[in-house]
Amino acid sequence: MTDPIDSVESFDNFIDGAFVPPGSGNRMQTRNPFTGRVWAEVPDDAAAVDAAVAAARRAFETGPWATMSAVERGRLMRALGDSLARDAEEFAVLETRDNGKIIRETSAQTAALSSYLDYFAGVADKIHGEQLPNPSPDFLVYTEKVPVGVVGVIVPWNSPLMLLTWKLGPLLAAGCTAVVKPSDITPVTSLLLAQRAGEAGFPPGVINVVTGGAAVGAAITSHPGIDKITFTGGGATARHVARAAADNLTPTVLELGGKSPQIIFDDVDPEAVTNGLLSGIFAASGQTCVAGSRAYIHEDIADEVIARVVARAESLVLGDPSDPATEMGPAASDAQRDRILEMIEVARTEGATVATGGVVDPELGGRFVRPTVIVDVSNETTIVREEVFGPVLAVMTFRDEDEVIGLANDSDFGLAAGIWTTDIRRAHRVARALDVGTVWINSYRTVSYNTPFGGFKQSGHGKDNGIEAIDGFLNTKVVWVELSGKTRDPFVIG
Ligand code: NAD
Repeated sequence: MTDPIDSVESFDNFIDGAFVPPGSGNRMQTRNPFTGRVWAEVPDDAAAVDAAVAAARRAFETGPWATMSAVERGRLMRALGDSLARDAEEFAVLETRDNGKIIRETSAQTAALSSYLDYFAGVADKIHGEQLPNPSPDFLVYTEKVPVGVVGVIVPWNSPLMLLTWKLGPLLAAGCTAVVKPSDITPVTSLLLAQRAGEAGFPPGVINVVTGGAAVGAAITSHPGIDKITFTGGGATARHVARAAADNLTPTVLELGGKSPQIIFDDVDPEAVTNGLLSGIFAASGQTCVAGSRAYIHEDIADEVIARVVARAESLVLGDPSDPATEMGPAASDAQRDRILEMIEVARTEGATVATGGVVDPELGGRFVRPTVIVDVSNETTIVREEVFGPVLAVMTFRDEDEVIGLANDSDFGLAAGIWTTDIRRAHRVARALDVGTVWINSYRTVSYNTPFGGFKQSGHGKDNGIEAIDGFLNTKVVWVELSGKTRDPFVIG
């Protein structure tokens, strides 16, 4: 990989086991959000989707993948994981270059990719149907678990390789093949992952990657050759995806945004809670689906906690995301920065007070929005209702448990929540009452390969990770076998 400052790298789609230039010749550029420089260009050609779907279909139906044992599938997945682990740091550098996330986080993510593939590799050969006891002795009834087929995979820019691996792990374990579209903001590493898969021994056509923007995404979601769509991204895009899928009755997994509450009771250590709030919203510059962007703090400790959070926000080290000392990087794009600033402005006009931040960093400029804490808001304020996807924490107070449960659940979203308390009964009571897919107690933003991840309400449906994720890529086939040879009444069911 040459220095991006000196040159613009050119990449092609990865289709049927090889890099293929776009037939139309259309390309798009990708920028380093820290330097603002174009560092790579990739195809942007919706017509390429047909070839990718055809390759995935061939691989699924007739290629070596179609008849490969699950043990062998698992071996290939582990080999891919090993390959990614070997060069995890190189992939981390590329992710940081493409989306501006701090290297500490991208390093941790790329180092973990192999564990996700290992986990699902281990599950691949344990997928099986079952024999069902039937009331009639005349029948043997059993089920088979069969892969759904060709999966359209669309992922966002905030954690490109991690979110892609969350989807590839279960779908490959199930025996499916994939047509992947990474975000137009972060297209490169997915192409390189597909190349690594080819080198690891995956047959051509099992993993295809087509880069580009919304038109390429739409070509995948509306394609009649796609059997399942798994999408991670924003709610507005998800509505396009769901509409397109509806025309072909294609089933979907949708992992969408959130407006996740952090609930802080009055019995906590203010320092620990400050760390928790910080990690929930300023890590990844707030560009994480589980951002703990609404804080409800018990009124007896609110002043102290807010003062601590503001002080920490003001002392965070902003700068070059590839410097390990940096704690917060830039927004991933100009459009993202503009949206963050616009939402802060809307909050101001609705009566909110910006306790700190709310502006582009005066020294760094560019896409660096200062870590922002907003007070004087309520559940009616737009910034408390809508996802910002930036480093903006909206803080409110509460008096009692029932009140805060109501406030936390009063949201269109239901992705995640944090509860901070040392009262064990209260912690579990509140966890049970929250209408969200993941609850963290005295912690925030931890994930694992074996733990299902996904939201309720407008945060989506279906799961990434855990055994449950594999179910999304399997169909259950039922086989009835008549054993007796008796003649049955043709006009009676049962
Ligand atoms: P986005 O919705 O703008 O884009 C997601 C993907 O969809 C991209 O690859 C994009 O190119 C593609 N796309 C755009 N238009 C399309 C269309 N018409 N048809 C098909 N595909 C299309 O999201 P983003 O800005 O890249 O990512 C941020 C969003 O992702 C946030 O809302 C965040 O909360 C969400 N997210 C969710 C999770 C989760 O697991 N729940 C994880 C990370 C991010």
